[in-house]
Amino acid sequence: MDDHKIGLKAGLEIHQQLDTRTKLFCKCPTMLRDKKESTFSFKRYLRASKSEMGEVDEAALEEEKYSRTFIYKAYDSTCLVENDEQPPGELNPEAVDIALEVALLLNMNPVDEVHTMRKIVIDGSNTCGFQRTALVATDGGIETEEGFVGVDSLCLEEDAASKIETEGSSDAVVYSLDRLGIPLVEIGTAPDIRTADQAKKVAEQLGMILRSTGKVKRGLGTIRQDINISIEDGARVEIKGVQNLRLIGKIVENEVTRQTNLIKLREELKRRRARVERQIEDLSDIFANTTSKVIKRAGGKVFGICLRGFAGILGTEIQPGRRFGSELADFANKYGAGLMHTDELPAYGISEEEVVRLKRTFDATEDDCVVIVAAERERAEPALKAVLRRAEDAMREIPKETRRALPTGSSAYMRPLPGAARMYPETDVPPVEIDKQRLQYIKSKLPETFEHRKARYKEKFGLNDELADKISRNPHFSLFERIMESYENIPATLVVRTLTDTLAELMQEEIEVEKLEDHHFMDMFKQLSANAFGKEAVPEILKFMAKQPEMSIKKAIEEIGLRADMKEVKQLIEDIVNSKKDFVREKGAKAVGPLMGVVMKELRGKVDGKMINKILEEKVKEVMVRATSHDSE
Ligand SMILES: [Zn+2]
Repeated sequence: MDDHKIGLKAGLEIHQQLDTRTKLFCKCPTMLRDKKESTFSFKRYLRASKSEMGEVDEAALEEEKYSRTFIYKAYDSTCLVENDEQPPGELNPEAVDIALEVALLLNMNPVDEVHTMRKIVIDGSNTCGFQRTALVATDGGIETEEGFVGVDSLCLEEDAASKIETEGSSDAVVYSLDRLGIPLVEIGTAPDIRTADQAKKVAEQLGMILRSTGKVKRGLGTIRQDINISIEDGARVEIKGVQNLRLIGKIVENEVTRQTNLIKLREELKRRRARVERQIEDLSDIFANTTSKVIKRAGGKVFGICLRGFAGILGTEIQPGRRFGSELADFANKYGAGLMHTDELPAYGISEEEVVRLKRTFDATEDDCVVIVAAERERAEPALKAVLRRAEDAMREIPKETRRALPTGSSAYMRPLPGAARMYPETDVPPVEIDKQRLQYIKSKLPETFEHRKARYKEKFGLNDELADKISRNPHFSLFERIMESYENIPATLVVRTLTDTLAELMQEEIEVEKLEDHHFMDMFKQLSANAFGKEAVPEILKFMAKQPEMSIKKAIEEIGLRADMKEVKQLIEDIVNSKKDFVREKGAKAVGPLMGVVMKELRGKVDGKMINKILEEKVKEVMVRATSHDSE
């Protein structure tokens, strides 16, 4: 699919935990705890009220439909600030410094004064009912191979409490307070990204800039990305919680697929004059003697609706591994109800006979689809109403929504897209003035930028502009330097190509290149620098090592059969030259070129091309010398 043609616009929002000594608003350490070490826990009830929030946000309203209790686990490493029993202290200056450093690296303009604001959160992830956030800088950007991408804002925020489980019934949510208050920078790009590949590269570059400070936390869960995506005729969708950078390209791709397919489904539904009836039927009688375990588990209670003209639609795949029926099921799941429909029935122990009776209840024809949920009335009704609304939307538009990234690169419905976050000043935290001296000091200690690194690589390793740019923006840049410093006879272009293009190609072939560690590359180039194999074999060796990362490179070379016996190689070349003696006598030194092709056919990847060329030249010379001495006899 051509991302440009469909008008893809995407932006990233990156949340990165900072590796500060203490939290953003208190002196507690920023370490995560074993949840078993919790010293006590306390309970809170959802307390978001309309009066506190002014107008009610659609997302807030939806969240309020599920009444919940929140339980918080506290530790000897958390204090009364996390418990919301003591007001927050002043902004952690160490965190402000790191945020300013990142802002300068992104060519942003820092604000004169940092004001802490409150942003309402009602999912219980913060004990005080809002998240504190402070704008630090605006209007920067980064260059990518595919053009400039603006960075609109950089905020300093407190991380939320982490959800650890949903206890018993889904009515109580348990949070752990160790993560609450860890400083985060939130970096929001402009919607300047135009392709899935560019999205991945922007995420990589931002990640590298953050790590280059040496002051951010590393490891799973310390960086989280949200992606805003829209396509022409589609809708703006925010996909939350991407922890694996590698997935970003795929998520963008899959969202484009989803929206494109939803547009097709909408046209199909219009063509069929599909319609949605709001009538919900109690179907429990049909399943009085059912063998279906799903229905028995729900106490035999089944409710359903009929979607006219929807036959086959729910069974249509709209994203890898997800059908339109999965979208509807997301809505039912929000109310703890599982969803089944006649596009997939009979199944789940539901019989043909029961399906016939289902359809008869609604006078459904083969064009229609009956959707059922197995749950008591109080869950089933709101679940089916939500499904009806989503089905109605399908005939009109693609809903603007917030979605949850799945490990496969697809996504599931989470909640409606929230309106612009309403902010209120946090009066407990004094504003922080950013003076020139402080900025000057941070500026004088900035880590190397891509631009500087690129210039240095051109100068030091003689790389051309394209390759220098490529490797200076690549996460493997320090490995590149180490290889170059260790093995002088390895050409820089080969190392760059290997760490960029070759790895990308192998990834396309679905080789698990993430299994390759720095030492694999170091060892491989060490062997190559000792002429143990030809450079043409690099992709093959990497492929082999990705599959058997435990094996030594030496052993791998033997296993692949690359370690050529030089005696044999010389013999083989000599035999080829001898078999073309007449040609060599006729062409002289010019015979080397054409013969090179013949020899390479036999030895490609086993011996370095340069080495072959050298031997070939020798052998050709020998034949010529012999020829002249014959003539003189
Ligand atoms: Zn604390």
